[in-house]
Amino acid sequence: MRSLLLAAAQNRWLREHASRYWFVRGTVSRFMPGETFDAALSAAEALRSKRIGTVFTHLGENVKDSAEAQQVTEHYLEVLRRIKESGLQAEISVKLTQLGLDLSPDLCFEHLKAIVERAPKDSIVWVDMEASNYVDATLDLYRRALTAHPNVGICLQAYLHRTKDDLAKLLPLRPSIRLVKGAYDEPPEIAFARKQDVDESYFELGKQMLRAKKENRCVRAAFGTHDVALMRRLADFAAAEGFGKKDFEVQMLYGIQRAEQERLASEGCTSIVLVAYGSYWYPWFVRRLAERPANLWFMVRNVFAA
Ligand SMILES: Cc1cc2nc3c(=O)[nH]c(=O)nc-3n(C[C@H](O)[C@H](O)[C@H](O)COP(=O)(O)OP(=O)(O)OC[C@H]3O[C@@H](n4cnc5c(N)ncnc54)[C@H](O)[C@@H]3O)c2cc1C
Repeated sequence: MRSLLLAAAQNRWLREHASRYWFVRGTVSRFMPGETFDAALSAAEALRSKRIGTVFTHLGENVKDSAEAQQVTEHYLEVLRRIKESGLQAEISVKLTQLGLDLSPDLCFEHLKAIVERAPKDSIVWVDMEASNYVDATLDLYRRALTAHPNVGICLQAYLHRTKDDLAKLLPLRPSIRLVKGAYDEPPEIAFARKQDVDESYFELGKQMLRAKKENRCVRAAFGTHDVALMRRLADFAAAEGFGKKDFEVQMLYGIQRAEQERLASEGCTSIVLVAYGSYWYPWFVRRLAERPANLWFMVRNVFAA
């Protein structure tokens, strides 16, 4: 089912037609507050009242020309201005293919640099990790950006066999890392296939990130997961290493495990929600279905809920 859904995420016909169906749109609204940045901003205000921080991401990937990449860059510069104006403690997360990585790594780097230079120095601009064929290029650009600007962070995927080495090579640069399990359909030569193996890889990498943070070799160690059991294991490890609650950072997606997001915040942990918005939501949304096929039932219920 997961592979089928991840294949559907790449299907152009479905992408163009799915958004016309009200029951699909109804299900999407569970995972994003709306298509506009204003809707995302309102959601962030509501989260702030619960002491939950926000990371904004404008949905989109693989732009077709440099004008589109420039437009995305300008959009993020405007978002940074709006964040400052609102007084929110919010950050952004960008996809390099949306900033023109397929067109030219140098052009993409210029766009990333413009965004990172505009962002406050005490916050992080997060770089998403995409499918495995982009990992080398993403890490290259991340290293270039980090060398000049400490306020940039990278997402690493625990399902990839290579991530252990990638993490070891990044730590001497004092990175900020958001660890996730990984959302794409990767073959077993590249990624662990069994959930149990992915979870163990996540736990081992998470421990290394926390040790590195303790030794001041990692600026932010953020756990991008909704897996409560895994979070608890890492929280116990962090406590045993002497970390305060505030230093334990979890990032989750809007609409998923809301009670857990609030519980972490009320206990004093750093609880952050990634709020996505934009009209190009189809592949992102189908990846959310693939993570939990039970979400399909939620969509089926929407069909009959009219
Ligand atoms: C802040 C953030 C940023 C991310 N950035 C990236 C990225 O840059 N690159 C990338 O490849 N992936 C990214 N991901 C997605 C990630 O790789 C996983 O696909 C996703 O988080 C599901 O894995 P999990 O860790 O929650 O664990 P799972 O084992 O998949 O889920 C654990 C439990 O969480 C709940 N859950 C998980 N997903 C859903 C869902 N969609 N709907 C409802 N309940 C759910 C279920 O209760 C499930 O049992 C990101 C995730 C987060 C939270």
